[in-house]
Amino acid sequence: MKPLYVRVTNDQIMYSDSENTIDENRFELDNNSELKVNLQSFKDSLNDSIDVIVITNSTEYLLKENILSYNNQPTDFGSELENIFHIPVINIEAIENSNLLSATEKELSYSTWHLDYFGVDHGKRQYGQESMQTIGNGFFGLRGTYLEAHANNDNYPATYVAGVFNQLATPINGRNVINEDLVNLPNAQFITFKIDDGDYFKIDEKYIMESLRSLNLKTGVLTITMLIKLADGKELKIVEKKVAGLKNFHNYYLQYSIQPLNFDGKITILTQIDATVINSNVERYRNLANKHLSTDKIENKATTSILLAHTTQSDIKLAIRADLSYPEINNANYVIDNQPEIAGQIVTFNAKTNSIYTFEKNVAIFTSLETKSTIENVVTDHEFLPNFQSAVDHSTKNWQKIWNKEDVVITGDLTAQKLLRLNSYSMTSAAQVNANKELDASVGSRGLTGEGYRGHIFWDELFDMNFYVLHSPELVKYLLMYRYNRLGAAMDYASDDDYNGAMYPWQSGMYGDEQSQEVHLNPITNKWDPDNSRKQRHVSLAVAYNVWNYYNLSNDEDFMRDYGLEMLLNIAEFWIDKAKIDKVTGKYTISNVMGPDEFHESYPGHENEGLKNNAYTNIMVSWLFQKISDLLNSESSDVIDDNLQRTNFSDEDLQKLDDVRHNLKLEFEGNILGQFEGYFALKELDFDKYRQQYGNISRMDRILKAHNDSPDNYQVAKQADTLMALFNIRESSFLDIMKELGYPISNPEKFISDNIKYYIARTTHGSTLSRVVYSMLMLKIGETKLAWKLFYEALTSDYYDIQGGTTAEGIHLGVMGATLNVVTSFFAGVDYRGQELEISPMVPEQWEEIDFNMSFKGINFNFQITSNNVSLKADQDTEVVFKGKKLPLTADQQIELSY
Ligand code: BGC
Repeated sequence: MKPLYVRVTNDQIMYSDSENTIDENRFELDNNSELKVNLQSFKDSLNDSIDVIVITNSTEYLLKENILSYNNQPTDFGSELENIFHIPVINIEAIENSNLLSATEKELSYSTWHLDYFGVDHGKRQYGQESMQTIGNGFFGLRGTYLEAHANNDNYPATYVAGVFNQLATPINGRNVINEDLVNLPNAQFITFKIDDGDYFKIDEKYIMESLRSLNLKTGVLTITMLIKLADGKELKIVEKKVAGLKNFHNYYLQYSIQPLNFDGKITILTQIDATVINSNVERYRNLANKHLSTDKIENKATTSILLAHTTQSDIKLAIRADLSYPEINNANYVIDNQPEIAGQIVTFNAKTNSIYTFEKNVAIFTSLETKSTIENVVTDHEFLPNFQSAVDHSTKNWQKIWNKEDVVITGDLTAQKLLRLNSYSMTSAAQVNANKELDASVGSRGLTGEGYRGHIFWDELFDMNFYVLHSPELVKYLLMYRYNRLGAAMDYASDDDYNGAMYPWQSGMYGDEQSQEVHLNPITNKWDPDNSRKQRHVSLAVAYNVWNYYNLSNDEDFMRDYGLEMLLNIAEFWIDKAKIDKVTGKYTISNVMGPDEFHESYPGHENEGLKNNAYTNIMVSWLFQKISDLLNSESSDVIDDNLQRTNFSDEDLQKLDDVRHNLKLEFEGNILGQFEGYFALKELDFDKYRQQYGNISRMDRILKAHNDSPDNYQVAKQADTLMALFNIRESSFLDIMKELGYPISNPEKFISDNIKYYIARTTHGSTLSRVVYSMLMLKIGETKLAWKLFYEALTSDYYDIQGGTTAEGIHLGVMGATLNVVTSFFAGVDYRGQELEISPMVPEQWEEIDFNMSFKGINFNFQITSNNVSLKADQDTEVVFKGKKLPLTADQQIELSY
């Protein structure tokens, strides 16, 4: 084990491979650059590889080691160095207490299971951290806010329940704009205190000497510890914990401990269920109507409070119950402190220096969506676990079961391990079987962590389901039922636009009707500009893809018979109707659409016509029609007849399905496939010019619009579009489709490589989804360095909030699911997008090993993959394809394959 000993001062890092010669080497810190940049340069300046960094400064702070004062700011040097070096960072004191090896291992296991923030942050940064530390269980998400905080510019304590939406109208500039929002529910996590006759404590950096917010990913417990010094010199230690019930998903449990450190006095604890809350997470929505709740009743019985409310338009009944307990505090005085819309409870007691006083608050949330009997009765009869510790024990046990299934273990990269675990954690907090089997809900683009995109459900489901389907296929079935239950709405939407079949909305909420805005007010011109994003009709293809993906992995015939085929046929009917033939060429055109690249809404100079023959859309339509033909050949005649009848799918439709499948139009210039018809007539953009001027040009659309120009005029893409199909389907299937469409590719390797290079040069990655897709595409053409860079940018995108504040409005769930998928499907190379698993690893040189479990067609697999060896086991006899060759597997036998 190779350690690097460092000593940090304000302007340099002294370092050596031995503790005794620490001042042998010096690296100057540039105080004008970000610390991250300095540390990266420091890393680049070192020649030898190291296994652990040992900080020799003595620890200055109590709550976390390796917090050092840098530029007069307490700075988490341990984490900052770990984030750059991707190895454990320990303190010399840890070695003195044990030894180098065990101190290193201890830190590795701590750091890869915890997301910590030291200190109080501000504004969008802290909002973002709260999004990241949300606890949840698929039913609700409770943002990781300090319990003492009310909503303000630095804190946003929100609670969301999957599927609880409400619509409000706002009159703006002569229009009545209606928005449907995921509702911020009453805040029942509020707890604060006051000393003697002082004011109630508010989160204010002035009084917080130290603060550590630590999310334990292994157990699902968020612990916030604060050392407080009030204006009058009174010091306290506060420890607050939150945990969500995974099985009994209605519940969350809070524990609040308060310890006076240098005084005796009267302490008053105030806790509330606060239904005065509004939706105000997203700054640019704040001038829109935002009060979604109306309080019906507040009841109190002993130390239980119940608040009943409903949403103003969707009329969802809500019941929140809070039970407060403090069995070890003697002679406490309890009073009810209700105000309009607030159920308050106050406890007063006399506290002694150094004693710890602990409160527990159990909270249950019920809504009339999942609870069919009268919720007032259900909430009144509800029983909690006996105490906070038993809630932690349950949570730990349930998370353990989840981790056994979905933990993707990376050896050799602490940062990737931590963030991949964070991503799995967030995926499970957004949806999990125990809750979703009782719900009519799917996953929004921000999970249940914020109000960005109003909690709506997009094509991002495709990126999420690629992860869920491997580790929890049953969950995918319940998520797909959200779409099945809104098939009627998708058919109405199609028929309103004069089409047959089903057209799913680009943004979906409560009812499955279109929730994208039609116009946006341009704050500069004060004019209403059209928003064409709804023309992304490919969302229906994502729904179809998810149905097929689930069926392919699970072989769930019942689902296909009862729901899946009906959805596929209805979606197909829409595309059959939308495809119009050119009688002369015999080719079909699909017009008035947008691809995933949201920069291109229309042709230059046209406002809202959409585009013709978007390559991704047409390829996926052809793919869908092929899958439907396969199903019609393989399913029993009963199933087929029943489904054809249910969907009114005629013989003529069947014929057109076949015709369209083989004749959709694509456009080429030489070897390059055009993103849409007319693409090559667009101007080339001088990327370098804008890069020089703006640095970050990811939102090139905004830059061009600010110059009175439009991205419609240029070959510039926000995200992967033309080649997106290669993310969904294997290259061989992609090439088959090209051939079927009448565009056989003579030199596939060159074609794929030329196209990937052409489009990445024109893509600004204005959506983080783009980086994941391109990372996989870069691997395809052997550009491993760039693949790694894009992957890492995507992996760290919410952690560093690389889009400048969007994590404040919620984490980006699609990217989180997709990075996990890139690791298992493309780095580990276990490709499940066909009838059998195809294994072809490309393990990054930075990693030693990737281990994970997954299920495929009801068989459980275990993989351990290094850069030259694959070790695998299946729990049933089966076959896989390894590096192009079929390989039989015997149940429960470990196989080692070198490559
Ligand atoms: C992306 C879309 C995505 C949406 C919601 C947009 O920025 O361009 O592809 O569906 O965000 O996450």
